[in-house]
Amino acid sequence: MSDEIKIQLTTTPGNKPDSSNLSFGKYFTDHMFIMDYHIDKGWHDPRIVPYAPISLDPAAMVFHYGQAVFEGMKAYLTDSGKVLLFRPDKNMKRLNQSNDRLGIPEIDGDFVIQAIKTLIEIDKSWIPTEKGTSLYVRPFIIATEPCLGVRSSYTYQFIVILSPVGAYYSGGLEPVKINVESSYTRAVRGGIGYAKAAGNYAASIKAQEIAKKEGFSQVLWLDAIEKKYIEEVGSMNIFFKIGGTVITPEINGSILEGVTRDSVITLLKDWGVPVEERKISIEEIYEAYKQGQLEEVFGTGTAAVISPVGELHWNEHTMHVNEGKIGELSQKLYDTITGLQSGSLPDPRNWTVTF
Ligand SMILES: *Cc1c(COP(=O)(O)O)cnc(C)c1O
Repeated sequence: MSDEIKIQLTTTPGNKPDSSNLSFGKYFTDHMFIMDYHIDKGWHDPRIVPYAPISLDPAAMVFHYGQAVFEGMKAYLTDSGKVLLFRPDKNMKRLNQSNDRLGIPEIDGDFVIQAIKTLIEIDKSWIPTEKGTSLYVRPFIIATEPCLGVRSSYTYQFIVILSPVGAYYSGGLEPVKINVESSYTRAVRGGIGYAKAAGNYAASIKAQEIAKKEGFSQVLWLDAIEKKYIEEVGSMNIFFKIGGTVITPEINGSILEGVTRDSVITLLKDWGVPVEERKISIEEIYEAYKQGQLEEVFGTGTAAVISPVGELHWNEHTMHVNEGKIGELSQKLYDTITGLQSGSLPDPRNWTVTF
């Protein structure tokens, strides 16, 4: 593949949204990155073009058989005008794992990071700087070949779009109410749960909608087979602090291996906090709760970073965690990770990429 990225700048730049009212994923910048794949040519024609709708054949395979994967990361602008990306190599590695599982051709992670940097540089004035805000980067790949035969597509498009986003919780960190889902299943071992595939979200929406109607912000998924072991939450991995030890489900083939999850585990180990990656059942959590040992619960993911859980609802049981307040460790993790991501804290592990 030629590494030359063609650049076509917009002649009609858009108006920037009010940075105090961004919410999540509603506004998009002036440009996007696209490259094409053809089975005979590989990935080719990398280009940055004005943000615009794309045109696809109605028979494009993504619409019928769902070959679609994505990634998500955030870029921050420092006071000195530098841009920071947080561990983008991890996202590229995961994208290729997702590609592999869905029969999508591998991408060159280093090249894509370079392309993302070039795109962000062009739309740098869109990076919001208010506390808690950032530029969300959404790479994704779709199968574009017009064909109704069931097999992997011979053509794909890789696209990166950028969206200025607000703090996930406008009022600062706010503990959320979560419903433990006992009937629907998100993913099962051997399936595509470990891939960041669009279809996993399609599978999760119905239970999410029901939970929303009942006043919960997310669902906590249990394993598909026994409906016993904790998996993850919506778009977040989950952690429990029980009697001083932090426990998170092990990577098992059906949960997504989060970059934030890995960062939290690394930080906790550095701080000398006992942390275990293992199977953990909902009964174990409930027992710990009854004994007053369930100290903190929090979700981890790029969008919210750390999301404290104030209430867990499981069948007829309601568990109030830490009196509905943010736990000390949850707050410390949030402050540390956002501090690293935004460049306000020193970065001894070289997690951030600066440009
Ligand atoms: C993206 C995602 C996560 C969180 O991963 P991060 O890399 O931390 O953003 C967790 N679970 C699911 C299902 C996801 O799609």
